[in-house]
Formats: sequence, structure tokens, C-alpha cells
Amino acid sequence: MAKPTGFMEYNRKLAEDRPVRERIRDWAELHSGLSEEEQRLQGARCMDCGIPYCHSGLVISGAASGCPINNLIPEWNELIYKGLWQKALERLLKTNNFPEFTGRVCPAPCEGSCTLGINEPMVTIKANECAIIDRAYVQNRIKPHLPTVRTGKQVAVVGSGPSGLACADQLNQAGHTVTVLERADRIGGLLIYGIPNMKLDKQVVKRRTDRMAAEGVFFKTEVEIGTTLPAEQLLQDFDAVILCTGATSPRDLKVTGRECQGIHFAVDFLRMNTKSLLDSNLTDGKYISAKGKDVIVIGGGDTGTDCVGTAIRHGCKSVAQFEILPRPPVARPAHNPWPEWPRVLKTDYGQEEASELFGHDPRHYALMTKQIIGDETGHVKELLTVQVEWKEDMSGRLVPLEIPGTEKFWPAQLVLIAMGFLGPEEKLLKKLGIEQDVRSNINAPYGTFTTNIRGIFAAGDARRGQSLVVWAINEGRGVARECDKYLMGHSSLP
Ligand SMILES: Cc1cc2nc3c(=O)[nH]c(=O)nc-3n(C[C@H](O)[C@H](O)[C@H](O)COP(=O)(O)OP(=O)(O)OC[C@H]3O[C@@H](n4cnc5c(N)ncnc54)[C@H](O)[C@@H]3O)c2cc1C
Ligand code: SF4
Repeated sequence: MAKPTGFMEYNRKLAEDRPVRERIRDWAELHSGLSEEEQRLQGARCMDCGIPYCHSGLVISGAASGCPINNLIPEWNELIYKGLWQKALERLLKTNNFPEFTGRVCPAPCEGSCTLGINEPMVTIKANECAIIDRAYVQNRIKPHLPTVRTGKQVAVVGSGPSGLACADQLNQAGHTVTVLERADRIGGLLIYGIPNMKLDKQVVKRRTDRMAAEGVFFKTEVEIGTTLPAEQLLQDFDAVILCTGATSPRDLKVTGRECQGIHFAVDFLRMNTKSLLDSNLTDGKYISAKGKDVIVIGGGDTGTDCVGTAIRHGCKSVAQFEILPRPPVARPAHNPWPEWPRVLKTDYGQEEASELFGHDPRHYALMTKQIIGDETGHVKELLTVQVEWKEDMSGRLVPLEIPGTEKFWPAQLVLIAMGFLGPEEKLLKKLGIEQDVRSNINAPYGTFTTNIRGIFAAGDARRGQSLVVWAINEGRGVARECDKYLMGHSSLP
């Protein structure tokens, strides 16, 4: 244990985010860090409890409880407290290929299952993780690690999101020659063209992929398998193929007026913004601007929040975020006990910014969009909504029922649909003859990650459906181990 009385002596402390009115004027990361001394004391709060759930990675009641990659959290908390930052780094890298990503964007299911969190504010696990890796980069302790032997086996990884990158990193370290094929113009998947820069600076992603390239991973961009490169050629050119293509088909809003102009999928809005930002600092005009507009984001999740934060940085006139589900409780309800993932109200950066600028939380709960109304040019003018209440139907399933008399019109010149994703795109899967499961994800059981075609594996969102960066890393590591076994007959990959 770091310090037996640490949890009684020190309060939970996170670094202050940059002030709202300063950070909305740029696209730089909004988080900062604590001083070394303060971060060490946060490590001291870890009790190294007998049965730590924080690193268990269990799935309880349909959500992760504890870290899905089984980070050795109590161990590195102790090392941080003792000031042994290099040892903490070595411990962290045993389980996590990219702590600089999770340390910034992970929703931290570890903290939801921290024992201290039963009756005290939980340990700042995510911030501790980020401090370990960020210090290592600043102090130039992250060096390329080249494999000592090469097996001569060629592996193609299709898709360069966190699952593809984790898989490529592991297989490269096992000595295989790995080529990552990506259709976008930059490597990183949703790390680049989904999550906005203010949450994850794109230089942080590039720094990692540059290092992987220095370690021997080949990256090819603007290669779309099934279009620019025939799918069949993959199996001829490579000993194994791993599909890490993501769950990129967005769920649409099926209401009258959907065809109006000014209605976009959130991912298109976010992707175009980041591309224009990286290409030209938004001077090329190749993005969907929210400037001066009443913006409505349909979807109360994290992607919706990213749209709120992006629209605010464009200088929108107003922003509202609609969620069909009821407002979550402020504290854990009895049916959501520790160590389950706490399904409670969380206020993220986008809502914080909107509240400060416009004087109120942009979120509206239990609200259903019934119709989109356009002006005489066919451009969206307003939305018609109705309040709903969730009641059990005859089969006991909760369904939204409209509350009569609660219809409301909302002005809108830009509508962003952030209603989640339906699964992977089918074009490539059909060409390769890959089977899909009932949810349309690639049918490759968790653990073996094998598809119905020998030599082709699948991992990440394409296999499990839209999820989290930390699960993508988990799957990338898992599929690498299985692929290594397939190629060599055994594997020593963790
Ligand atoms: C806006 C947004 C914000 C998010 N924020 C968070 C967050 O804060 N924290 C968090 O944990 N998770 C977040 N997520 C979820 C997280 O980003 C994903 O779960 C994760 O990126 C999935 O990784 P992946 O490698 O499976 O797929 P992806 O990251 O989707 O990468 C798939 C890649 O495959 C490429 N590809 C697809 N088809 C082909 C083809 N035929 N040929 C070549 N390349 C192809 C795509 O271009 C893409 O680059 C967010 C998601 C979105 C959309
Ligand atoms: S990866 Fe996520 S769940 Fe795991 S320790 Fe880091 S913040 Fe927690």
C-alpha cells in the first residue's frame, strides 16, 4: 500500500480545466495536470484493498466495472506515491499500449468501482495514469523499442483506430511484419477524426504512430480495402488479415423533414472540422460551420457533447442537446450499486461551456423529435418535439409514450444527429464473404476473434459494436495474441 493513512489525509484533487471563456477561443486541450507533489499524494489515496475491483474489467449489468485492460492500478498508485515514476511507467505499459489516449478520453470505469468510492471520492486513477505517461514523454523516457527477431510473417491490419493500432503494436513486438491500411488521409481512426482536438490533441496521436513507424510498423493511408485495393488481394499478399474497421454506420433520425438541408450526422460534422483544423486551421472553409446558428444536437451521449463543444467554438448563436431517455439520477440508485458502472448524471465539458455562455444546461431529457420543418428554400428552420414518459408495455419492456399537450417548436438552422451507430459498413464484409451477427457486427467470438474465413480476424467496434477506446485496446491486444498463435502455433503475447 502506498500510505496506510493516505485516504484519510488527502482529498481527491483533479487539475482545474482551463477556464471556459479562455478555452472556447481555441482548439487546444482543455485539461491540465497537477504538480508532481500533488499527483503523488493522489497516488497515496489508494488503499490497495484486498479485492480491488478497479482493475477487474468485469462486465456487470451490461457495463464495464473496473479497467477493461486490467491496468495494475494499485501497483502504479503506490509507485507514484514513492516517486518511482519509471517503475510506474513500466507497470502501466505491461497492460496498456496507449495510456496517453485512455488517460485523456477514457470514461474511467476503474474509478466507478474504486473501493474508496463507496463512501469517499474515488482515487483519481485516470489522471494518475495520464501523469505517468505524460511525464515519461516530457522526460524523453519513451524510446522506440525494436523487435530483436523477425518471423517473416506478413500481417495486414485494416483500419487504424485504437484496436488496429494496439493489434499492430503487439504483433510488431512479436516480430511479425505489420502493415496498417487506412482509407483516411491520417492514421488514428476515431482518435483523429472522431474525438475532437480539445479532448485529445492530434499531436498526441501522431507522436505515438510516429514511434510505431520507427519500430517497424508500416502505415499506408488513403487505401480503402474493397475499393482502391481489391479485398481478395489481401489474402494473397498477407499471411493473416485483421479487420479493425470500426462501427461507422450512423443511426439516422426517421422523421418527416429529414431531407431538409442543414441536417448532418455528428461524425461528419466532427470529422470535417478536425480535418479542416489540421489542414488549414479552419481557413479552407471545408467544414460545416455552426457560426451564428441555432444548433440542435439530437443525442445526449459523448458524441453529442463533442458537437456541443465544437459548435460553441465556431460561435453558434444557441445550442440545445436532446435526449429521449429520462434525466439520470444525481446519486447511485439502489438498483445500481457499487462496483457497477455508476449510471448517474455527468456534466461534461460541452455542457459546462454551454451553461456558462448561455446560462443553462443545454440538455433536455425525455424529449422526442417528431418533425423537422424547412423554410421555402428547403433548409431546416425548426424542430417539433414532444415530451415522453417511459412506461412498461404489455411485455414489460420500457417504451416512450408521448405526453399530450407538450409539443414545442425549436428554431434551428443546424441539426446534428448523434444517435449512435448501427455497426460496421457492409460493403467490405460482403466482398470478403464475412458473416455478421444479429446486431450486424462481424461474427467473431470474443476470445478467438476468428471470422468464418480462415486467416481473417476481427476486433474493436467492428466486432463488438460502438464502444470505447479502452475496449478497442483490449480487443486489439486479444486479437494480436490469437493471430500470433495462428501464425506460430503458440504465443507469448499477454
Ligand atoms: C465522436 C466520437 C467521440 C468519442 N469519444 C470517445 C471518448 O471520449 N472516449 C472513448 O473511450 N471512446 C470514445 N468514442 C468511441 C471510440 O472512439 C471508439 O470506440 C474507438 O475508436 C473504436 O476503435 P476501432 O479501432 O474499433 O475503430 P475506429 O476508431 O472507428 O477506426 C476504424 C478505422 O477503420 C477505417 N476503415 C474502415 N473501413 C475501411 C476500409 N475498407 N479500408 C481501410 N480502412 C477502413 C476507418 O477509416 C477508421 O479509421 C467516441 C466515438 C465517437 C464517434
Ligand atoms: S484505461 Fe480507463 S479504465 Fe483503465 S485505468 Fe485507465 S482510465 Fe481507468
